[in-house]
Amino acid sequence: MTMAYEQPQVRVRAPGKINVFLEIGETQPDGYHQLATAFQAVSLYEDVVATHADDFGLAVSGSVDVSGVPVDDRNLALRAARLLAAETGYAGGVRLEVLKHVPVAGGMGGGSADAAAALVACDALWGTAVGSARLHGLAARLGADVPFALKGGTAIGTGRGDELSPALARGRFDWVLVVSEEGLSTPEVYGALDRHRDRHRLDIAPARAVPAVDSAVLHALRAGDPATLAELLRNDLQAAALGLRPDLAETLELGESSGALAGIVSGSGPTVAFLAESPEAAVDLQTVLVGQGLDALLAHGPVPGARVVG
Ligand code: ATP
Repeated sequence: MTMAYEQPQVRVRAPGKINVFLEIGETQPDGYHQLATAFQAVSLYEDVVATHADDFGLAVSGSVDVSGVPVDDRNLALRAARLLAAETGYAGGVRLEVLKHVPVAGGMGGGSADAAAALVACDALWGTAVGSARLHGLAARLGADVPFALKGGTAIGTGRGDELSPALARGRFDWVLVVSEEGLSTPEVYGALDRHRDRHRLDIAPARAVPAVDSAVLHALRAGDPATLAELLRNDLQAAALGLRPDLAETLELGESSGALAGIVSGSGPTVAFLAESPEAAVDLQTVLVGQGLDALLAHGPVPGARVVG
């Protein structure tokens, strides 16, 4: 039922992310890993359009292959809408249209962006006005990367990645993203990391008790200095992702020998993110990679988190 003061439709845009630093600690008794990460939101966006409905419904489309995205109650956007309704006692429903541009199962937090966008869209559509602290709490219940998609910009994530503190960042970082047709499952990549660590337990230095983001990374972000940041990029999931997808090592080598400052697997992969010196250098690198038959996209960061755009 639509009341006169309610908006007929709300469109919210939320960004994908790159973990420019990701240190993974020991497995916790609950099976999750403690981690420390520096997130940067980048200009690959998901749009969620919310319209009044009596029930809950969802449609998914976009510029990426969406065939792997569930459209039932497993969908994170739908779960976000249902959670907000349950928490606020909202009795109606919503129709969500999700327009995806972030590669599915690509290690860039596309599903998390959808969840964050759906929370903001439904909150505005329904007039529930829960406020940012409560929205953040709901976001954390939906997934570790959802609070960051809500906030955007640059932030440090600890705990499971959901305990956020903002980080200052100046300027603009230019990225070329090589996306894969086939996604990688995040739990599988963590499984590969655990197996690797068990096998080599005696060979590796004990991990720090509590993972932390190097202060040099914070300095490079604050200075807006891509050349320094390039030296400091770190992803503890990268070896595991390369174990499951050895072809990504060739992609990394190709980008790094074709003008990138550095390359890194994004989160759990398989997206490979190359940091470029300038917007022009990013375009040049994209041209080379596309010429080699790769699917390479331009993006820059940091950009804002989930926000109403219409
Ligand atoms: P992560 O946040 O773990 O890095 P990712 O970016 O690698 O995730 P996503 O695209 O967020 O991957 O999706 C991972 C899985 O989540 C998909 O394979 C899909 O089964 C499920 N999923 C649930 N809801 C969505 C959604 N709205 N969009 C995409 N995937 C979804």
